Amino acid sequence: MPIFGKPKYTVVKVSRKKTMPEGLWTKCEDCGEIIYNKVLEENLRVCPKCQYHFVLSAPQRITLLIDSSSFEEFDRDLRSLDPLQFKGPKGSYPEKVKEDQALTTLSEAALCGRATIEGKKVIFGVTDSRFMMGSMGSVVGEKITRSIETATEEHLPLIIVSGSGGGARMQEGMLSLMQMAKTSAALARLHKAGPPFISILTNPTMAGVMASFASLGDVILAEPKALIGFTGPRVIEQTIHQRLPHGFQRSEFLLEHGLVDMVIHRKALKGTIAKLLEYLSTNRPKTED
Ligand SMILES: [Zn+2]
Repeated sequence: MPIFGKPKYTVVKVSRKKTMPEGLWTKCEDCGEIIYNKVLEENLRVCPKCQYHFVLSAPQRITLLIDSSSFEEFDRDLRSLDPLQFKGPKGSYPEKVKEDQALTTLSEAALCGRATIEGKKVIFGVTDSRFMMGSMGSVVGEKITRSIETATEEHLPLIIVSGSGGGARMQEGMLSLMQMAKTSAALARLHKAGPPFISILTNPTMAGVMASFASLGDVILAEPKALIGFTGPRVIEQTIHQRLPHGFQRSEFLLEHGLVDMVIHRKALKGTIAKLLEYLSTNRPKTED
């Protein structure tokens, strides 16, 4: 006979899997809210509670920003070599590329091409942070540079959506770092020729990507709460032995400090780009040498 008598309730073992099937819910990375996936998709992958913007893939970005079926990709067949014969703890560089190609169905971390946005012709590029953290190796750098050069030759506005936690791709060493100078020099020539460059920064845009083409827009837009910078906040804190201010390196902080021109909610992004294209096509100031 139990000391406290017979329990007045029955314990029923419920498998978590039965009550909460996998793949139906997502936890918000910022506020912790559990969001029904269907609601998250309908809300363009933005948390309905705190407006945290989840990462989008490059194809999702194209669906979001580009007029339906107007995207014509160029340079899809460019492939990186393995100049350093790089071998990491999880395998060789070509093996990692193959793995990410299978995961994303992309050939590399950037998609570039021609497109229209609300009927306006543009050259459009987007990086995908699922593919080697959106890092810039020689293929990403070359694709971005060719996009800039096409915009320059054909006098078309250039739009690039950046998302890279990786910056320059370490597996290609110096060849990766060279892409920073190459893309920046090509943008200087575009600037001289006149067409506008709208750079869109998404969570996260860091290191070699941010320190080259992503920060050189005539207009720089950022999605809310995106982490944007060169070195991450944890490394900076460890180096300077000081606590960083709240929201440091987030879009809103950078807007306040002049690095970003506008922080735009994902729902308003396409409309804002279209308005900017309209404005910049008629009000572009003449550049001086
Ligand atoms: Zn949230």
